[in-house]
Amino acid sequence: MSDFSDVCPKCSSPLGDPIETKTGKKLQRCSMGSWNPQTKQNEGCGFVKWLLVEPKELDEKCPKCDSALILQTTRFGKKMKKCSRGGWDKETKQATGCDYVEWINGIIETLEEKCPDCSESLILFTTSSGKKMKKCSTAGWDREKRVATGCTYIQWLKPGEEPKSSAGEEFLPPEE
Ligand SMILES: [Zn+2]
Ligand SMILES: [Zn+2]
Ligand SMILES: [Zn+2]
Repeated sequence: MSDFSDVCPKCSSPLGDPIETKTGKKLQRCSMGSWNPQTKQNEGCGFVKWLLVEPKELDEKCPKCDSALILQTTRFGKKMKKCSRGGWDKETKQATGCDYVEWINGIIETLEEKCPDCSESLILFTTSSGKKMKKCSTAGWDREKRVATGCTYIQWLKPGEEPKSSAGEEFLPPEE
């Protein structure tokens, strides 16, 4: 950790207001840096400070110890549920308390629409990066044989439904 909480370590300018990307990550840019949508490049100082997203308490109980679960977003935009009793001891570098963690790869909602191939119901799958697709509820994955099972119908939702961010998130410097 550094002591430069609100000052750019590269150029000593103040950092801008925290902004949230569409994948749920939070960051602060150096106020001397700005994104130029025309050249698709950072101008000025390119320092970006990634912020930890506050965990959110869920209305679910830990299957191991019955404590409340919390929803946490990592710096890489991945979401996980973890036990609120779980912690991290910085001195011993060991996990403390309950170690229950469940990664969330995507969000699934059941739709009222029927699959055009097999007439079973469709589900709406939102990936962890926010892309949406409709797929057949009979679709599955056989872990032993490593093959897809059930109906293979998939329809990705139009990219037009995903407004493009002008912030140029994909061009940000890699996270440290
Ligand atoms: Zn700077
Ligand atoms: Zn627990
Ligand atoms: Zn189907």
